Amino acid sequence: MKTFSVFGITQSGKTTTIENIIQELRKRQYTVGSIKEIHFEEFAIDKVGSNTHRHKMAGSQLVTARGYFETDIFFDRQLSVEHILRFYDHDYVVMEGVTDTYGPKIITAHTVEEVDERLDGTVFAISGKLGNTMNEYKGLPVINALTDREKLVDLIVEKVFDRLPEFPAECCSACGYSCKALSERILAGLSKREECVISDVRIQLFIDEREIPIVPFVQKILHNATIGVVKELEGYRQNGDISIKIKGK
Ligand code: SF4
Repeated sequence: MKTFSVFGITQSGKTTTIENIIQELRKRQYTVGSIKEIHFEEFAIDKVGSNTHRHKMAGSQLVTARGYFETDIFFDRQLSVEHILRFYDHDYVVMEGVTDTYGPKIITAHTVEEVDERLDGTVFAISGKLGNTMNEYKGLPVINALTDREKLVDLIVEKVFDRLPEFPAECCSACGYSCKALSERILAGLSKREECVISDVRIQLFIDEREIPIVPFVQKILHNATIGVVKELEGYRQNGDISIKIKGK
C-alpha cells in the first residue's frame, strides 16, 4: 500500500488538490482510500444526545452506526495513523493534513514563505494556490492540480513507494538509516524501497488477524527462541514454515 500526505495551511488548496488526485488515480483504475486530519478540538460527528453517543457515555468503547447507505464506526479516542491504516487495503491512501508521518508529502501553499516553514526531505512536490504563479521552487515541481492534474499524478506514481515502517530511530537502523532518513533517500533517488530489511520478513505476527510490524532484532529473538524449542519436537523439519496461534484469555 502506498501512502502520501498533502498538507498546508487552511485555504491553501489541500482539499481541491486531493479531489483532483483521487479522481485521476481512480481514472487510472487504482484503488484509493483517504484520511482527513481535523485540527479542531471540538470536532465530533457523534453529537451529544444521539443514541450512539449515549452508547459511548454508557461505556461502550467501540460504537457502530449502521445506516442504509453508510456505516460509521466511532472510536472513543484519536487513533495513530498506523492503526487507522490497518483498516485500508488500497493501492493508494491519500492523507489530508497529516504531518506525523515519514512518508512522501506534497505541500499546498499560497506563498514560498509557507513552503519554507514546512519543507523537509520528505516533500516531493508543491501544489495549491502557489501552482498559479510558478512551476518550480528550490528544485521541486510546483504543479497546479486543477489544470495539470495528470502531471501531478504522473509524479505521484513515479515517486510514492510502498509505505515504510515508521519506527523511532532508536528502535531500528538495520538499513543503515532511520525510517525517516531512508524515506528521504528514496525520494532523492539515493536508495531503494527494498533497502528496508524488514521487508525480508522471517517472522510475521498477527493479533486478531492484523499484522503487527516487528523490528529486526525482535524478529531475531522470536525466530531463535521458536526454532530452539520447536526443533526438539517430533515432526520438525528444517526450513519448514511454522505457525503458532495463541488464543485470547
Ligand atoms: S530497516 Fe526498515 S524499519 Fe529498519 S530503519 Fe530501515 S526503513 Fe526503518
